[in-house]
Amino acid sequence: MQHVGVVTIFPEMFQILRDYGMTRRAFEIDALDLDLVNPRDFAENTYRRVDDRPYGGGPGMVMMAEPLDRAIDAALAHAKDARVIYLSPQGGRLDQAGIRRLAHGPDIVFLCGRYEGIDERLIEARVDAEISIGDYVLAGGELAAMVIIEAMVRLLPDVLGNDQSAEQDSFTDNLLDCRHYTRPELWQGCPVPETLLSGDHEAIKRWRFEDALRRTAQRRPELLELLTATRSDDEMRDLLRRIAEECNDVET
Ligand code: SAM
Repeated sequence: MQHVGVVTIFPEMFQILRDYGMTRRAFEIDALDLDLVNPRDFAENTYRRVDDRPYGGGPGMVMMAEPLDRAIDAALAHAKDARVIYLSPQGGRLDQAGIRRLAHGPDIVFLCGRYEGIDERLIEARVDAEISIGDYVLAGGELAAMVIIEAMVRLLPDVLGNDQSAEQDSFTDNLLDCRHYTRPELWQGCPVPETLLSGDHEAIKRWRFEDALRRTAQRRPELLELLTATRSDDEMRDLLRRIAEECNDVET
């Protein structure tokens, strides 16, 4: 079971993980254990305040070190070897390989910031890694934590109905996923590619691989460089040459 602790002033936000989709299934089959800790419960003032004005002046508030320090202790009490990860726009940008490492690594305690962020001394003292979910700024770390939890949960054994689905996903093996179709065979005059209707499993497998290569070449060519670093056989070279020629034909 994956144990995830979250330090957040908005624990109620995480209820949607229990209520919907794949994360709900993960709870149902005990693949995920979520421990929510509210730093307000560790604030020593009457109003349970966890933020204060920034030293040096300026706009906004900063989350105080002390209640967060105690909240992290409380979260680690349930998972003593967990890594403490601060969700931050200044952290290392997360990708699918990073999600895989998190899903198969040690337990995690996510630390969610709010306001202008967290007192730097707390980060230096307690945080093992900082992770960003993209080069944009959210109002808090909660949605970032939920994005990561959902992406991790998809990779846990038994959570996906069909174990193979995650293997075909975009970014596995540095490829985008191939195109997908379902019924009807003809929709608004557009047919489904013939090979997919052929019942020839080898031909379908090959069509999907080529389609994934073509998509990647068109949309994320930089991924192909990573792919060819690990697969540079003749078959792959021929395929990539053909796809590059097709792309050039489309452009000219
Ligand atoms: N002043 C901070 C800065 O510019 O680096 C931004 C603070 S932001 C308004 C409040 C909190 O949202 C952060 O402490 C962090 O926990 C979270 N957050 C914002 N953007 C994020 C991102 N791209 N990835 C992960 N967490 C993010």
